[in-house]
Amino acid sequence: MRQITSVLILFTLALQAADIAPTLRGYSQRAATAELEWEKTFRAIPQQDRLRENMRRLSARPHHLGSPYDKDNAEWILAQLKSWGLDAKIEVFDTLFSTPLERSLELLEPVTYKARLEEPALPEDPTSNQKSEQLPTYNAYSIDGDVSGPVVYVNYGTPADYEQLQRMGVSVSGAIVLARYGESWRGIKPKLAAEHGAIACLIYSDPHDDGSMRGDEYPKGPMRPPFGAQRGSVMDMPVYPGDPQTPGVGATPDAKKIPLSEVTTLSKIPVMPISYADAEPFLKNLGGDVVPEPWRGNLPVTYHVGPGPAKAHLHLKFNWDRRPLYNVIARIPGSRYPDEWVVRGNHHDAWVNGASDPVSGVSPELEEMRALAELLQKGWKPERTIIYCFWDGEEPGLLGSTEWAETHAAELKRHAVAYINSDGNGRGFFRAEGSHSLENFVNGVMKDIDDPETHMTVWKRLRLADISRAPIDKRGEMRSRPDLRIAALGSGSDYTVFIDHLGIASLNVGYGGEDEGGGQYHSIYDDVYYYTHFMDTDFAYGRLLAETAGTMMMRLADAEVLPFQFTGLADTIHTYITELKKLASDQRAEIKERNAEIEDGTFAALTNPKRKMVPPAKEPVPPYVNFAPLDNAADELSQAAENYERALLASGDRAPASLNAKLIQSERLLTSAEGLPNRPWFEHLIYAPGLYTGYGVKTIPGVREAIEQKRPAEVEQQMIRVATALRNEANLLDAATQELMAANK
Ligand SMILES: [Zn+2]
Repeated sequence: MRQITSVLILFTLALQAADIAPTLRGYSQRAATAELEWEKTFRAIPQQDRLRENMRRLSARPHHLGSPYDKDNAEWILAQLKSWGLDAKIEVFDTLFSTPLERSLELLEPVTYKARLEEPALPEDPTSNQKSEQLPTYNAYSIDGDVSGPVVYVNYGTPADYEQLQRMGVSVSGAIVLARYGESWRGIKPKLAAEHGAIACLIYSDPHDDGSMRGDEYPKGPMRPPFGAQRGSVMDMPVYPGDPQTPGVGATPDAKKIPLSEVTTLSKIPVMPISYADAEPFLKNLGGDVVPEPWRGNLPVTYHVGPGPAKAHLHLKFNWDRRPLYNVIARIPGSRYPDEWVVRGNHHDAWVNGASDPVSGVSPELEEMRALAELLQKGWKPERTIIYCFWDGEEPGLLGSTEWAETHAAELKRHAVAYINSDGNGRGFFRAEGSHSLENFVNGVMKDIDDPETHMTVWKRLRLADISRAPIDKRGEMRSRPDLRIAALGSGSDYTVFIDHLGIASLNVGYGGEDEGGGQYHSIYDDVYYYTHFMDTDFAYGRLLAETAGTMMMRLADAEVLPFQFTGLADTIHTYITELKKLASDQRAEIKERNAEIEDGTFAALTNPKRKMVPPAKEPVPPYVNFAPLDNAADELSQAAENYERALLASGDRAPASLNAKLIQSERLLTSAEGLPNRPWFEHLIYAPGLYTGYGVKTIPGVREAIEQKRPAEVEQQMIRVATALRNEANLLDAATQELMAANK
């Protein structure tokens, strides 16, 4: 009996010890205890009412780049920051931004129709009537044009859709293509249309994708109404984002600007977004074949491909002035490592009122700053410098973040530890995408944040949801892996310049998946009425975003050893290599099989004489690819990552602070100054947005795109570059391990 009691006492004591001596990666036990206390104090500060008030203020009027209220918002944000005693300023850049002067679209044949091209004000929605300040529906960086031609429906306008059209014997040469929003990023649609010879591109919102097929139309429900249209940029951002006239350098007053005629990121043909109500007359008057089943939308017409008899006339003329943009930047100096910077950002500009995009993200960011300012008053001193950025000009082409980071590139490369981004925020599950060296760190923070709906941790909730949605054969690995995997970053928000151009470890974070919304994206109806009726209506998740991102900032800023972890990175790179091998072998098998079908006469046998069908041409089978250089380098990285991990664990709290200088460079080593083939601005060799997907990520992009775009000579050449980078990363980790071991002798 006595024995059992003493065992129990010991057990209880051990439990209590675990309670009072928490472990936090990169922190000694004493530092961890203090840090967790400060974090808890921080998380009690953000208030839902303040988030609602921030949104009311920032979304009260349209505030696109160059508008009076955009500048007004920047000045208001600055005043708020200063009123909390923070050191903040506005950094101004001048950038090219096109706005519409003339827009018209008509159906000329076989009947006439003049497109309305306007979103009507709704009596229920009090800010939808601010017409004099609203930007009309248009695509920024479409070229000017006045063209007429037959219409062809191209589905989403992806590479696969053009292959299908070719098979059907339909050419878009000389035609105006009508594509629907969805699947690929919008800028890819005119890019591919132009490459196939089209003279203009219309992009409409089919109710199948964000309308009546998904839910009730606004204002009864959250989905896009008949005359709702999606504004947006069609700048060729996968080549380079930011000011089109100052590629690679900050758009400061003395920067050399290339003439408009030499800019490569404008669309090649005129582009215009339209509503489904405006698209319907064009679709109704298309002849030719009925579309393949997956191409059908949700309008009450039989979808045909064309070309014609519908004939359209599109006229577009833009103002091509350069305009000032206003980034608001606040800085809290680090007390121990002022030259190590942790950077946070969210944009403040919108297409119109932008309650969801971006105010639902920038409002929590502002609340984080208020909470951190309060912590400073209470005596908290971050060890590293914290920089908060409120970007302007994100919507047209990531202008504010790109120009700022290009201007400060040299300093950022030396000093930046990490960049944490958010954008529009919703209700539901946490999502983080980004650098895999921060995967373990993200998991750690998620375990300390409680979900307001289920009262379990955000981590547990996401883990259960992820497992339930995964294919059965993947669930075993998900249950046994200690960390939830995070996805890689493509493009689509302000992290792009940090990760892809400068090689700064980056994360994009936010909540979503439960709101009913999405249908008012980039329309005049994305406003306070919409957000407070259909999105995170009580701002519980706005508050949670402030808590989560703020905790991340504090934990990165205060760590004794930066909490990067590389075994997860190495593991992820192995999964990418497996994907590449499968991609190459599947492609060989498909081409071989198609060639065999052509030789067998399969296509002749399937030809329906009443329907035109063009058989594909035989293609050369790509040679086998030798993946050994990549496999070997990835193995070296795995080994180095494990050694570092072991040395770090063994070091307890005796890790030397000089280690951080090495860790800061770890993401930089995954880049190459030469950049990716045909787009040198993109320097990261592991992550990039796809040249033909836009926002969608391509991992190990040099190799992957060489395979996909069938340039076999380039595949192994690109592989060597990636292998070299992985080896450099392994060498850096070996040096870090040595340093740890020397310090612990
Ligand atoms: Zn946004």
